[in-house]
Amino acid sequence: MRREWHQLSYPGVGNPALQTSRPSTDSAEDEALGLDVWRGLPRVQVPPWDDPAEVASVCEVLDVVPSIVAPYEVDQLRVKLAEVCEGRAFLLQGGDCAETFADNTESHLLANARTLLQMAVVLTYGASMPVVKVARVAGQYTKPRSSATDSLGLPAYRGDLINSLDANEAARRADPQRMIRAYANSAAAMNMLRAYLAGGLADLHGLHDWNKDFVRASPAGERYEAIAREIDRALDFIRACGMTDNEALRTVSLYCSHEALALEYDRALTRVSDGRAYGLSGHFLWVGERTRQLDHAHIDFISRIANPIGVKLGPGTSPETALELCEKLNPENIPGRLTLISRMGNGKVRDALPPIVEKVTAAGAKVVWQCDPMHGNTHESSNGYKTRHFDRIVDEVLGYFEVHRGLSTHPGGIHIELTGEDVTECLGGAQGIEDLDLPDRYETACDPRLNTQQSLELAFLVAEMLRG
Ligand code: PEP
Ligand code: MN
Repeated sequence: MRREWHQLSYPGVGNPALQTSRPSTDSAEDEALGLDVWRGLPRVQVPPWDDPAEVASVCEVLDVVPSIVAPYEVDQLRVKLAEVCEGRAFLLQGGDCAETFADNTESHLLANARTLLQMAVVLTYGASMPVVKVARVAGQYTKPRSSATDSLGLPAYRGDLINSLDANEAARRADPQRMIRAYANSAAAMNMLRAYLAGGLADLHGLHDWNKDFVRASPAGERYEAIAREIDRALDFIRACGMTDNEALRTVSLYCSHEALALEYDRALTRVSDGRAYGLSGHFLWVGERTRQLDHAHIDFISRIANPIGVKLGPGTSPETALELCEKLNPENIPGRLTLISRMGNGKVRDALPPIVEKVTAAGAKVVWQCDPMHGNTHESSNGYKTRHFDRIVDEVLGYFEVHRGLSTHPGGIHIELTGEDVTECLGGAQGIEDLDLPDRYETACDPRLNTQQSLELAFLVAEMLRG
């Protein structure tokens, strides 16, 4: 329905998009917000840059560039995540383990976005629940490493924002200028995704077009086609009843996220708006399992930004630590502000997760519970590939649902490493990928990702679990 003139928003009158942010040049305000306290704290996984002056001069550039996302979008995502927190929506997050500059192409971005949107359709339709969609994109350019060197004895690859995957000493040097390239690639990725989404990439009237040819004839592709046909019929029904198609059927909000690891980058892209600090390098920023020490730099930095934030919790996390993280990161107990991302491994989730959920729930702390079934289930294949088995991934999600059902808490979401391409990186699934198939199309720059079919299969299984 057309809105009356007096309902329209005018500049400065209640239009959140006009809430502006400013580059971080007002040092008094930044200091009051404590945005640089992290610089004086212990910190692990520091990028091995050798010239602090060059890092500083790169950050001066990033201090004033246009941000990747806007404060009102960040607030909007927090409001949507509050719905997840209250049990009324589901959070679907996924994308590459590590984005690379070389793969930051239109076809790769669209394939990943489509796979995530296909999963969201399956979940929304299957579970009749709104799905909040967050991509690991437009900034997922850093990787924490468990060893400073790789198997060849070279300095470890730490993500394209820091060094290059090429296997030689010079390429592995940490180069601060790469932060500028990461920013430029992220801005280009977001620009393209926004344009395609506004142009109908996620239009529910085009569901069949999202089904890639190499998936269509597979069991997951056929099940997806069946849902797409049912949605077509529902849309026909809506039209036949005289109801007009709604904007909501033609567009979706897809938010971007990455691990806040290279704090120099995320700090430089932090802007102040209405007295609050927003990390505008992405909508949702998380701190990984290796950098979540309570009194260290990463936790301090994300405690000071207004974004929805996440923390990964491995199987060694004590319930007390989980609660301390809630108190430190969400002292005002705002729903949607904090997501706790468990990544326990399928063998441990049923024992390690319950005491954490019990402690946090008993204290009344508001969190979104999300399951990352990838990072606790990595092993080396017989032929030397870093891989994950689909069955273990499914079993961890099952265990996570069992734990939450048992405690009457909301299994709020999943966090997946996936790609829209036909890769062979994870074992199993209906294609029955085996160790010897891995070399065929093993393309990841870091951890193994579910391919499109495996991602869809997982979505069908999770939709069933959500229906309970
Ligand atoms: C990741 O999400 O890619 C990652 C490194 O996760 P974690 O911190 O859980 O190991
Ligand atoms: Mn990973």
